[in-house]
Amino acid sequence: MAHIIDGRLIASQIRQEVKQAVLAHTSTGRRAPNLAVVLVGEDPASASYVRGKAKASAEVGIESDTLTFAETISEGELLAVVKRLNADHNVDGILVQLPLPAHIDDTRIINAISPEKDVDCFHPASVGRLSIGLDGYAPATPAGIVLLLERSNIETSGAHCVIIGRSNIVGKPLANLMLRKGIDATVTVCHSRTRGLPALARQADILVAAIGRAHFVTADMVKPGATVIDVGINRVSDPSRERGYRLVGDVDFDAVRPIAGHITPVPGGVGPMTIAVLLQNTLKAATT
Ligand code: NAD
Repeated sequence: MAHIIDGRLIASQIRQEVKQAVLAHTSTGRRAPNLAVVLVGEDPASASYVRGKAKASAEVGIESDTLTFAETISEGELLAVVKRLNADHNVDGILVQLPLPAHIDDTRIINAISPEKDVDCFHPASVGRLSIGLDGYAPATPAGIVLLLERSNIETSGAHCVIIGRSNIVGKPLANLMLRKGIDATVTVCHSRTRGLPALARQADILVAAIGRAHFVTADMVKPGATVIDVGINRVSDPSRERGYRLVGDVDFDAVRPIAGHITPVPGGVGPMTIAVLLQNTLKAATT
């Protein structure tokens, strides 16, 4: 029976470490790290993520300002907001909550963020630094996964890490991180066109599911003793819950747990790590 990796516990340890480091920073008379969060429109999920980031920042002593704009803001106006934040010496980190409304080009906005303030690690310069192993901001969800592995003492050196999903926010940056010197995994990235995916998944010492489909990873896709990291967040209907649904991952948790060596639950696995890494990045923006 797999050991459950407790993402809530590990994330709370990291937040505590960030809090101590923020205290050490401000105790010398410097101002607190500052994160500017840009939210456009009224998507409830985006608004909820932004509230979570603001709350977590406040708890560790990071100041965060949420700048909220109507769905009707033009691309030019939003670019001007980003430019103003780039120039503001009291802002250390800038985060633009995605997705943006259809009339705004996400890429153009992300590219306008100063790489020095790109705490989400989405700017092409940040992605480039990551891919050639230069120091920089860590991509939040992938770095959160690496922290889960490290703090659970899971050997990555020489391990075969199979990642299902090739998105720019999870699959690809995770592949880059797992390949880094010091982590040293052998990486296979699978996607919707991959042939023979179950057989590849079965080779994994570390199997990461970042697909966005409930229960995609079944027991027959997991090697006995493997570490299974579930990034997916999917709503499935559940009339027994007041809100009518519950959240599940991409892994069929109940079927896979008896086979795996370690497994992350959903919720309470990868999810809490993403904000913890964002806080680490904002601290880094203020202190380097
Ligand atoms: P995405 O939709 O951008 O990418 C999904 C990937 O899955 C694609 O690369 C696609 O090729 C692959 N895929 C789709 N169907 C497939 C199939 N049948 N076989 C093999 N591969 C297939 O998604 P994303 O942004 O990477 O997110 C993936 C999941 O992770 C979502 O559920 C999302 O909500 C969740 N997520 C969680 C966190 C977190 O903090 N826990 C952060 C980001 C994303």
